[in-house]
Amino acid sequence: MNKARVVIIGCDTYADDQVITAVRKGVEMLGGIPVFAKPGERIVMKPNILIGTAPDKGVTTHPAVFRAVGRLLKDAGAIVSYGDSPSFGKAGPNLRRSGIKQVGDELGFGVADFDSGRSVSHKDALLVKKFVVANGVLNSDGLVSLPKFKTHGLTRFTGAVKNQFGCVPGLLKSQYHVKLPDPYDFATMLVDLNTLVRPRLYIMDGIMAMEGNGPRSGRLKRLNVLLLSSDPIALDATACRIVNLDPDVVPTSKPGEKAGLGTYHSENIELMGEALESFVDRSFQVNRTPPMSSSGGRFRVFLKNRITQRPVIDKAKCTCCGTCITLCSVQPKAVDWYEGDESRPPRYDYNHCIRCYCCQETCPEGAIYLSTPLLGRIYSHL
Ligand code: SF4
Ligand code: SF4
Repeated sequence: MNKARVVIIGCDTYADDQVITAVRKGVEMLGGIPVFAKPGERIVMKPNILIGTAPDKGVTTHPAVFRAVGRLLKDAGAIVSYGDSPSFGKAGPNLRRSGIKQVGDELGFGVADFDSGRSVSHKDALLVKKFVVANGVLNSDGLVSLPKFKTHGLTRFTGAVKNQFGCVPGLLKSQYHVKLPDPYDFATMLVDLNTLVRPRLYIMDGIMAMEGNGPRSGRLKRLNVLLLSSDPIALDATACRIVNLDPDVVPTSKPGEKAGLGTYHSENIELMGEALESFVDRSFQVNRTPPMSSSGGRFRVFLKNRITQRPVIDKAKCTCCGTCITLCSVQPKAVDWYEGDESRPPRYDYNHCIRCYCCQETCPEGAIYLSTPLLGRIYSHL
């Protein structure tokens, strides 16, 4: 069996010339850009925009990485476009705020349509047999995924596999959380989505990563690394090993291997480029306990609600914008105005909350953090 190949390249700056050199070197190790894009092919680049924020906040794929990959694809003769469906709002303003649109304009790339999509069936899926996929992806010949190295409340880590969730347009994304409240089902859906849209190449921006309260409100953490692979499971597993997170804990690992998307077992991964050990950061703050399944009856849900991290609003930071309420897809809403009073921070009803963390992910003020209940703290030390 051929091993999955993951390239590790050090890069300690977002200076264009150095990022371009690093990306070119990494792609060469995987066989060169012609392996991933032929002249005349329509290639769509998918950075992680989440919610468009300034590049120095570390929430989005840095424009310098986007520029470096875009230049390689353009030089290869591909017809390049790009896009992402943010967790809230239309793609256009979010692409602009993240600095991606400016680079796209500079390189003459078109913006692909990620605001609307079409229904596609996926017969070989493990769990979800039908997806609505963005037109921009469906109208392309190939996808190049540019994830950002960040923590995530639900999946522990958001990397190569999770990046494709932005191929589902608009608020349809939050419906998956409602339909699949179990984190392992949600992760299997992400794997199914990846086996459907099948990016050809994944290049992860880990130069400036995010630890703690990710994926939007965590702390910046310099890891000085770019990771490249055509195997997203192996790439994510390698990223996990850099931050001392067991890939077994990340719920996409096992279904990813089962679906044939890739492998997370180190003996099946060939590391290329620089030594993994020189990037390892054991102090990286990430939740290292496995997500708790909610399947298994009402008692399990009751227990999960008392163990799993819950979103909490920092009243001092909240501007009462209401975005978290709009984003909460469960009915009745698990976060809402108290007695309709929009002048005070919303309140949670944790009995209805499915712990999807969409509210925490999208709060524009970073006012929502995750807190582990006492029982959960005891459980994590057992
Ligand atoms: S999204 Fe954030 S700032 Fe807006 S109401 Fe909710 S907690 Fe407050
Ligand atoms: S309150 Fe937040 S975490 Fe809970 S279900 Fe609503 S969006 Fe998800």
